[in-house]
Amino acid sequence: MSVGVAILGSTGSIGCSTLQVLARQRERFRVAALTAHSNADLLEQQAAEWRPSYVGLVNSGKSEAGRGKGAECLVEAATRADVAIVVNGIVGAAGLEATLAALRAGKRVALANKEALVMAGELVTRAAREGGGEIVPVDSEHSAVLQCITGRRPTELERLILTASGGPFRTWTPERVAGATVEEALRHPTWRMGKKITVDSATLVNKALEVIEAHFLFALPYPAVEVVVHPQSVVHAFVEFVDGSVLAQVGFPTMELPILYALTHPERVPDAGARRFDPVAAGSLTFEPVRPDLYPAYGLGRAAAAAGGTAPAAFNAANEVAVELFLEGRIRFGRIAETIARVLDAHRPGDAGSLAAVLATDAEARRLAREAACS
Ligand code: NDP
Ligand code: MG
Repeated sequence: MSVGVAILGSTGSIGCSTLQVLARQRERFRVAALTAHSNADLLEQQAAEWRPSYVGLVNSGKSEAGRGKGAECLVEAATRADVAIVVNGIVGAAGLEATLAALRAGKRVALANKEALVMAGELVTRAAREGGGEIVPVDSEHSAVLQCITGRRPTELERLILTASGGPFRTWTPERVAGATVEEALRHPTWRMGKKITVDSATLVNKALEVIEAHFLFALPYPAVEVVVHPQSVVHAFVEFVDGSVLAQVGFPTMELPILYALTHPERVPDAGARRFDPVAAGSLTFEPVRPDLYPAYGLGRAAAAAGGTAPAAFNAANEVAVELFLEGRIRFGRIAETIARVLDAHRPGDAGSLAAVLATDAEARRLAREAACS
């Protein structure tokens, strides 16, 4: 019997890569549900090919049998009886409620949507514990960590070092970075991804989000989650154990491998998709410290993480708004970090143990960010 998979955000970069993986694994998995925000044409094409029992389009007028609309369609798709695994490839805070619902319904969530875990890490991990659901990371660094620690006891784990490509501005001066254009920010050296995460990779906000993601996924204190710049994106993470031994997971950059592993963990299945690793072709691998002057938003994210409570939710919301404004050409690149700083300065971290508190922080931080960015 094949396993039913729901893909939330099927029209995005992660969604399309997931379908590519599933096309080679048709005997193991079947697509049970697909959702998108507004790309109705691509969603229709995918539905025609995969014939899922449920299709949801958030931003649509029509709703027929087996078709959902409005934001509710995400929770509907994520909790269906014929779905065992939910791949959450939605970008941003919009992915939170479906993740919570899926975990409460006992599903495995193959999580690419890191923003939800950052804004509500406590709630998401609690939903998994209480509902019997399981969070398996799709993010390549966290998949690397999971692959290194599978079969080990949590007490054997000492420290993680996540790698960051450094983005397109790694060799620029801070002054030049502050005035970078949208086109320059979208020219990522090693990964092809959606626009929001590509900008997050240029500011290194993405890595701050990933530090918070790792803290919640692997129950490690923040000082035990380090980051190193590794421009080749071949080593995805290092894991240090209590005896000082270090394991790393390596491979040419592709999301198909971590997506497949999130579906099959802890097992591995034969797959001919990803380009096989070749150390000579990989060439020299280099590692550098993160330069705080070049990536001010990274430090802000780490500070929000250390403050805890609702601070990561405020950080995430401020960033989402600032990135949107930057992509619309309304603020300069340097204004992203400045906006986040202004929002965090004004934010008094509170308890993040309820959805109401998290959503209130998210809304307030968005309001403040719009005000701060454009003033
Ligand atoms: P994309 O922008 O390519 O895709 C986003 C998807 O989410 C689309 O299907 C989009 O639908 C849908 N969507 C957008 N807004 C909403 C909303 N409000 N409600 C419901 N659905 C929505 O993003 P990526 O695939 O690049 O990234 C998705 C997530 O995965 C992000 O959290 C990112 O950080 C994470 N991630 C991505 C990686 C990558 O390689 N791309 C790597 C690691 C993590 P539509 O097309 O209709 O607009
Ligand atoms: Mg990543």
